[in-house]
Amino acid sequence: MNPLRYEFPADLPSALGASAGAGCMPIAGGTNLIDLMKERVTQPGTLVDLNQLALAQVEDGPDGGVLLGALMRNADTAYHPRVRTEYPLLSQAILAGASPQIRNMASNGGNLLQRTRCHYFYDVDLACNKRNPGSGCAAIGGVTRQHAILGASRHCIATHPSDMCVALAALEARVHVSGADGERVIAFADFHRLPGDQPEQDTTLAPGELITHIALPPAPQFAARSVYLKFRDRASYAFALVSVAAMLDLADDGTVREARIALGGVAHKPWRVPAAEQVLAGQAASPALFSAAADLILAEAVGQGGNDFKIPMAHRAVVRALMQAGGLT
Ligand SMILES: Cc1cc2nc3c(=O)[nH]c(=O)nc-3n(C[C@H](O)[C@H](O)[C@H](O)COP(=O)(O)OP(=O)(O)OC[C@H]3O[C@@H](n4cnc5c(N)ncnc54)[C@H](O)[C@@H]3O)c2cc1C
Ligand code: SF4
Repeated sequence: MNPLRYEFPADLPSALGASAGAGCMPIAGGTNLIDLMKERVTQPGTLVDLNQLALAQVEDGPDGGVLLGALMRNADTAYHPRVRTEYPLLSQAILAGASPQIRNMASNGGNLLQRTRCHYFYDVDLACNKRNPGSGCAAIGGVTRQHAILGASRHCIATHPSDMCVALAALEARVHVSGADGERVIAFADFHRLPGDQPEQDTTLAPGELITHIALPPAPQFAARSVYLKFRDRASYAFALVSVAAMLDLADDGTVREARIALGGVAHKPWRVPAAEQVLAGQAASPALFSAAADLILAEAVGQGGNDFKIPMAHRAVVRALMQAGGLT
């Protein structure tokens, strides 16, 4: 039996104090952390329950955008009137994930920090550099259907499983965090890490820091021209093999003014390639043009055997998502 302390702080300063010690872990909805504890992947000495913090609302951002509270539930976020009308891409992505019951429980902060779904990570009898640094990676040479085709390292080939984060990457969100040294804001592109030689670190969050808000900049005028496509093994309740969040701003003559493309299920973080978006600007929208952008996004893609299919799947998904976002199908 492992002794476990439980703290239920009433405000952010108390939560920061309680989260600072070794072995302390915050818990929000618990939909990922409790599973990890049951599987003995994570064994915190103290759980710091964040659910009394006043961080469960949507607020107006100072720049005209919105601030999503870290404790707000994924379902409440997806169905919030401002999110549905101004950021439909985010609503679509959240609703493509998990199940209604899980989305009712899962928090926004927890969604960003959910851990990989690599099967080997969950089996404590197998080597895993993310769970046990230096022990090796049982996935390499193993069953790799869910694994990365981009940005992997010889130490870890895991993917980040979130749908919500793929839309947040395309929307250029920012993550507001608080810690012992005060508050800071992290650009979404810098929040999740590639595995490199430290796959145990999923993000750039420092020990003891808490996510307080996710800031969405003012919605681009073309936000309605967006689509989230998700390909998975079952029609629901399954993580993405490949997903694409696409936004497309088209002039009346069909010329691309701006495009945003982020991929999920393919890397240790949501994947964006600015050069691929830039190649579209000023060109006449067409399947051939979108295919050229997909070529650029996937130029460095490498399969692991069991996931080689993801490369052509991701290519087709990018083209289809852009066609749908532009209303061209
Ligand atoms: C069966 C199943 C299917 C799923 N399918 C999908 C899917 O298809 N797509 C998808 O995107 N997701 C899916 N999920 C994952 C789900 O979205 C996440 O489990 C959920 O978003 C995590 O949120 P939570 O509040 O429950 O986090 P918790 O489990 O409470 O915490 C997760 C992690 O975040 C940390 N944490 C939580 N809040 C904060 C904070 N504010 N500051 C700092 N640290 C914090 C915790 O310490 C922990 O490490 C699925 C989950 C399950 C169980
Ligand atoms: S891919 Fe990463 S998470 Fe999976 S076993 Fe290897 S090191 Fe662990």
